[in-house]
Amino acid sequence: MKIKDRLAFYYTLLSSGTLLIIMTVMYLAFYVFFRSDFYDRLNDRAKVAAQLYLDADELPTDSLTRLRERMISALPEEVIRIYNAKNMASFIRDKQQYWSDDIIDRVRQDKSATFTEGSYQTIGINYRDNQGDFVIMVSAHDKQGQRRLSVILRIMLIIFLGVNGMFFFIGRLFAKQALSPIDQLISQIKSITASNLHLRLDEGNGKDEISTLAGNFNQLLEHLQNSFELQQTFIANASHELRTPLTSIIGEIEVSLNRERDPAYYTQLLASILADSNRLSATVTSLMDLAQTDLNYTQARREPLQIDDLIWEIQAYWASQKPHKVLNIDIGELPADPQQLVIMADKHLLAIAFNNIIGNAFKFSENKPVTLRLESVDKNLIISITDQGIGIPASDLETIFKPFYRSINGRSFQGNGIGLYVTQKIIQLYNGTISIVSRENFGTTFQIIFRSVF
Ligand code: ADP
Repeated sequence: MKIKDRLAFYYTLLSSGTLLIIMTVMYLAFYVFFRSDFYDRLNDRAKVAAQLYLDADELPTDSLTRLRERMISALPEEVIRIYNAKNMASFIRDKQQYWSDDIIDRVRQDKSATFTEGSYQTIGINYRDNQGDFVIMVSAHDKQGQRRLSVILRIMLIIFLGVNGMFFFIGRLFAKQALSPIDQLISQIKSITASNLHLRLDEGNGKDEISTLAGNFNQLLEHLQNSFELQQTFIANASHELRTPLTSIIGEIEVSLNRERDPAYYTQLLASILADSNRLSATVTSLMDLAQTDLNYTQARREPLQIDDLIWEIQAYWASQKPHKVLNIDIGELPADPQQLVIMADKHLLAIAFNNIIGNAFKFSENKPVTLRLESVDKNLIISITDQGIGIPASDLETIFKPFYRSINGRSFQGNGIGLYVTQKIIQLYNGTISIVSRENFGTTFQIIFRSVF
């Protein structure tokens, strides 16, 4: 069943349930009212009979005539009996005794009684007269009341069915109206395929659940589109980066094989092949780093890592490089508790991320000293790496993290544009943020912020 129909059905069920209860209460109220009204009329009849038969000797003639007239207009299938002290039917004897001694005695004892006999309602009253104690019994069939009740029942049934149909119709209308944004979403989603991932859903007023759903779906599309585009450019760029040095190596070897060359030529050729091979090797290493990052992404290894320990190890690593590289460590405000310098991360991956930034800092500054500052502000661990290099053009600060992207001013330096992409992925894996402040020809600062877990 569609949600629309289900909603309308529940709505109808609830409304008709309420209506049914109200109608039942009303019907019962009518029933009780008709019954007690008929007893009142029976009581009236009993009193008229008493006055007519028992008090006739004390009444003036005109009252007696009026009473006789009243007595004539009998109730449907009416039976009236007046019993004397010996329980014998007196005055009216058309169908003999009619009620048993038990019943007559009970009325006499209780002074009055009401009860039903099949479809008949009966009332009995004890009447004290100057001629003695009498019991007057009146019984009749409330045909009019029953007819009225059955008319009321029929009217209620018709109202019930009609109103129910209306409830269902209105419920469906409301449900359709309430769910119409979902219908629109469905038709919009149907039109989105792999070839037009740039399309977005209409987020509407941005306040209700459907807008939130559309917003989340749009975010998902954004991610999908990004990773789709990234994948496409990545494969194209990776093959280009690998093929260029290989084509150059093959070309140089083919040319040199055309004829005999002197030793100096071969030395130069080998040096050129070595440069291309180094470039190839650097690209393959970066791709391997990337592959490992991806692998760790899925496995997401995390262990407590003391960030200051890692920094000292990194400094020692760069000091051991040839030519010698100076990485100055500047320790700022740190918490007294060393536990607050711990983050949950994989040491090897984090070292790749820091070394990519530090390696660039040396590379783009012709090995001028680089400073790494560590400080803690409000449980945030801030690592800033500052160089005195060529700087990054302001227009590139956003795009610099895209794979294979290289700024114009840095293209004369060796590189392949994968390092920062890998670095950003690793930092994000451990819920860190990375940002850049740079001035062309003055230097660059990369700032990484992690939230301490303790
Ligand atoms: P690669 O260094 O191999 O080119 P990266 O992904 O590490 O690749 O860096 C991408 C680009 O970002 C570099 O080519 C360079 O243009 C720019 N860049 C990164 N770090 C610096 C820096 N410290 N100073 C100047 N430019 C930088």
